[in-house]
Amino acid sequence: MKIICIGRNYAKHIAELNNERPAHPVVFLKPDSAILPTKMPFFIPPFSNDIHYEVEVLVKINKVGKYIEEKFAPKYYDEIGLGIDFTARDIQEQCKEKGLPWEKAKGFDGSAVIGTFYPKTDFDLTNLNFTLRKNDTLVQDGNTASMLWKIDAIIAYVSQYFTLKKGDIIFTGTPAGVGKVVAEDVLVGEIEGREALRLKIK
Ligand code: ZN
Repeated sequence: MKIICIGRNYAKHIAELNNERPAHPVVFLKPDSAILPTKMPFFIPPFSNDIHYEVEVLVKINKVGKYIEEKFAPKYYDEIGLGIDFTARDIQEQCKEKGLPWEKAKGFDGSAVIGTFYPKTDFDLTNLNFTLRKNDTLVQDGNTASMLWKIDAIIAYVSQYFTLKKGDIIFTGTPAGVGKVVAEDVLVGEIEGREALRLKIK
């Protein structure tokens, strides 16, 4: 399976990192080795002093597809979830300055936290509230209505380049409020008040 991630999909997050608003979705991949095993803590890797959480809505692909038209995109997923795109922000800044790829900053072991999935029919995907709390303090508070590219547009866009396969997961981008984690932090994510992920930082 593969993990396809969208960057810069919420205007306020683009502003907080002083990035340009893109003309097309910013796309990058994480390898399957990036998945943090369920119930494991996240260990801060030795190569970074600035690991950021990014809470994101996840989409689980349910069948193979290529060149999917936006209007047919809903047939390609039944479940949505919540995840964290852990980012070594210091490494990413070095890569961005030099115009180099982001994989070392975004695809390292444990950088893809995949929480519980729920049936998409449980929610209004065009107006879906999701949150991240760090040590009981609300740090990210997003709504899919603020996405620059909505889920179905993302599927149409990325499937031009990558054949989607059953079990692939799309990280749909993070809202504003990203920040650093340190050892002993506890992160809890919710979708419409339902706990969808919980993990400890080590
Ligand atoms: Zn992200």
